[in-house]
Amino acid sequence: MTRMNYISTRGGGKAVDFQTAVLTGLARDGGLFLPVSIPDVRAELPAWAGLDYGALALEVMRRFADLPADDLRAIIGSSYATFRHPEVTPVVSVNGVHILELFHGPTLAFKDVALQFLGRVFEYYLAHSVRRLNILAATSGDTGSAAIAGVRGRFGLRIFVLYPLGRISPAQERQMTTVPDTNVFCLAVQGSFDDCQRIVKAIFQDLPFRDRYELGAVNSINWARLLAQIVYYFYGAFRVMARTGARTVRIAVPTGNFGDIFAGYLAARMGLPVSRLILATNENDILSRFFNTGVYRSGKVQATLSPSMDIQVASNFERYLYYRVGNNPREVCRLMETFVQSGELRMEGVSDVGADQFIAAGTCATADALATIREFYKQHEYLLDPHSAVGVNVGRRFLSRDEPMIALATAHPAKFADAIRQATGRDIARHPALDALANLPQRRTVLPAETDAVRDFIRKHIP
Ligand SMILES: *Cc1c(COP(=O)(O)O)cnc(C)c1O
Repeated sequence: MTRMNYISTRGGGKAVDFQTAVLTGLARDGGLFLPVSIPDVRAELPAWAGLDYGALALEVMRRFADLPADDLRAIIGSSYATFRHPEVTPVVSVNGVHILELFHGPTLAFKDVALQFLGRVFEYYLAHSVRRLNILAATSGDTGSAAIAGVRGRFGLRIFVLYPLGRISPAQERQMTTVPDTNVFCLAVQGSFDDCQRIVKAIFQDLPFRDRYELGAVNSINWARLLAQIVYYFYGAFRVMARTGARTVRIAVPTGNFGDIFAGYLAARMGLPVSRLILATNENDILSRFFNTGVYRSGKVQATLSPSMDIQVASNFERYLYYRVGNNPREVCRLMETFVQSGELRMEGVSDVGADQFIAAGTCATADALATIREFYKQHEYLLDPHSAVGVNVGRRFLSRDEPMIALATAHPAKFADAIRQATGRDIARHPALDALANLPQRRTVLPAETDAVRDFIRKHIP
């Protein structure tokens, strides 16, 4: 059993253990938890290459999580038994791109990989404690349903999910609002995803309220989510290296909150042989602008066909920033303060040629994502969802002869049937798990985009 501790990106407080980092989510000084050190696993790679998903997950996770190995193995086993594919995250090679399918979980999006695990980790800790946990989450669509699927009916847990009213797909909404478990509360906020995220952050910063109501987070700021996501970077790279004989890979990642790609960044720092991570955004391009100019400046959120990436403030970016400024929490505080005050942050010493040697970035406009979906369908009979299409589209700008390109497919196309219809002219994106929800009763509460309204709701629903 490894003992890895966690520190805040803003340097406040003492290092905490895995359990505390997972149960608290956001650090008390407003920062995000990071492991004290990043393990170097390069010597393990040959032994890891042939492992199945569960065995590989155990190897990766036990370096960060101090649970007894048998307990961790059991949690991993039951988390990924919910997936519909025996490989959990299989790789499909189409049109010169190796698509790592991350959407075979219960809610058909990659967030299940993390949240099936996190829900069980929460339950595991709560079962041994008098504590209860009330999860508060903001979702741009996929997190909410995946989080609900991860904690519904679980011991010691309630979940409150905020989502922007009318800005997520009907299928996404039904995946949340048709869940009958009484520990689930769906809050439709009259605002944008950034409003939802701002409210959640404000409530977490109200420490007396947070303590009184035992609030915790499942958003991609939760360390255990990132941990679970590191695994499939290794899994996908091993499969593709075995298939192609390559010794290094490139990986394209459709990005919103910088969570998924940050897991890839950590995998790379652990020793995963990836030469480039390719960050792909839709028109909400704050991150791609940053990696191309060194300036991080929030813009207005634009609604696109890839709504889970309609984000202009990327909550996990602060973790990356911590490493970028040389593990210096004081500098993180200064930069984040500047960003809050002026809406802009600049990396010092970064010219306009880009902010990172290792992360390349690009933007894919909606029309181009639709064209990519059309091409893959017409020529290869493979359906990409609009988020995955953004990743594939940008990834293909960085193809190399010697290194295979892995593109992360983050959702099943049936979750975004409208976009598929627009792209192909046909109504072909279906999944039985979604069809089954069509006629079920829905439960939701509509609230204004105000912190107090949400606070009141929570007060009324926690005894
Ligand atoms: C959440 C999500 C993303 C973006 O992931 P981040 O971790 O926020 O970068 C991309 N695609 C889909 C389908 C998602 O649900």
